[in-house]
Amino acid sequence: LRDLSSFRQSKHFKADDGGNGSGSQRHGADGEVLEIPVAVGTVVTDAESGHIYDMCRSGQKAVVSSGGKGGRGNKQFAGPTRQTPRFAEKGTRGEATALDLQLKLLADVALVGMPNAGKSSLLSRITRAHPKSADYPFTTTEPVLGTVERDGRQLVVADVPGLIKGAAEGVGLGHEFLAHVERTKLLVHVVEVLPVDGSDPKDNFQAVEHEIVSYDPAVAGLQRIVALSKCDLVDDREMKRVSESLATGSENEVSVRATSSATGLGLKQLVDAMFKSVTEGSKGRAPEVLEPAQYKLYTPAEGRELNVSRESPGVFRIGGKGVEALVERFDLENREALDYLEQKLKRLGVIEMLEREGFKSGDEICIGGAGFELWV
Ligand code: GDP
Ligand code: MG
Repeated sequence: LRDLSSFRQSKHFKADDGGNGSGSQRHGADGEVLEIPVAVGTVVTDAESGHIYDMCRSGQKAVVSSGGKGGRGNKQFAGPTRQTPRFAEKGTRGEATALDLQLKLLADVALVGMPNAGKSSLLSRITRAHPKSADYPFTTTEPVLGTVERDGRQLVVADVPGLIKGAAEGVGLGHEFLAHVERTKLLVHVVEVLPVDGSDPKDNFQAVEHEIVSYDPAVAGLQRIVALSKCDLVDDREMKRVSESLATGSENEVSVRATSSATGLGLKQLVDAMFKSVTEGSKGRAPEVLEPAQYKLYTPAEGRELNVSRESPGVFRIGGKGVEALVERFDLENREALDYLEQKLKRLGVIEMLEREGFKSGDEICIGGAGFELWV
């Protein structure tokens, strides 16, 4: 994905339970693996364990919850004394967890320009029809992202707070902004055709370019498109004059496009140029790697911990994740399955633990939601 807007619709995901084992040696199917796609740059935090998965590479996977295991078929329980077992395991339930998803800014295109140049207006015009779903609740000091779609492909465009003179030296918001811009593939430099403050468009253009160059030559080397904004305010002659003045005298070739967020002039062509530039610019390059693959695989504790307590006279409770899961896997109505379970409990040393609490053969045992008499 390119953004996390799809999670506005669906927030709950459930994989299948493991299938029950059955007779004729049939092992139950494990639950189908459920994969939830996220955008590259998503930081996934497990709200319960606090584990963080930094999904920074394309194709990267992390296991956030283990699913249910398929129950073993009857044959698994055959032994010298039980040659054709008439019971099989039930499939188990999988784990459940709550995850917090956060997308680190990973824009393809950044809109740069003086304050008031028309960047925000441009973003809201070219990004998808429901700006609400493309907007991110960043504060005013953070960039705002929008997604532009064309023929099933998406570009993430960032609108960032205005760049002011001295940004490269850390004045104002500009510095923070430029750090975000580093990761983009294309800069769309928005230049007001008729600045309200009476300044000269070319001076504004050069001032912003100067900030970018002095910040980092790598950023300066990014591809550029100049969007001449608010062209509805001037006639064609003036538009052409400003356009030409911007294109001349620069070291690099500058492609200037006349646009207006008010009338829609040149917006389709601008988006086309953005797609073309990003696609061609990334040809032959290796898939983006932001940071070395470094994420923790969360494997839950085995649940070996066992505890035994006396609930009331003659009634004992055995607690612990492992033993509760064990009980869940068997049909305790089946005598043979119960025998098997009892043997298993004995091997775990539960009988000694019970006896220490005053258990006598034939007392009642509760595990999870199940209860049975245990004879030893
Ligand atoms: P930003 O500071 O670069 O994000 O600029 P904004 O998008 O906030 O726009 C600054 C001002 O210019 C606002 O008052 C907008 O209504 C106005 N504006 C933006 N685009 C256009 C346009 O295409 N035509 C006209 N006439 N005004 C525009
Ligand atoms: Mg703005």
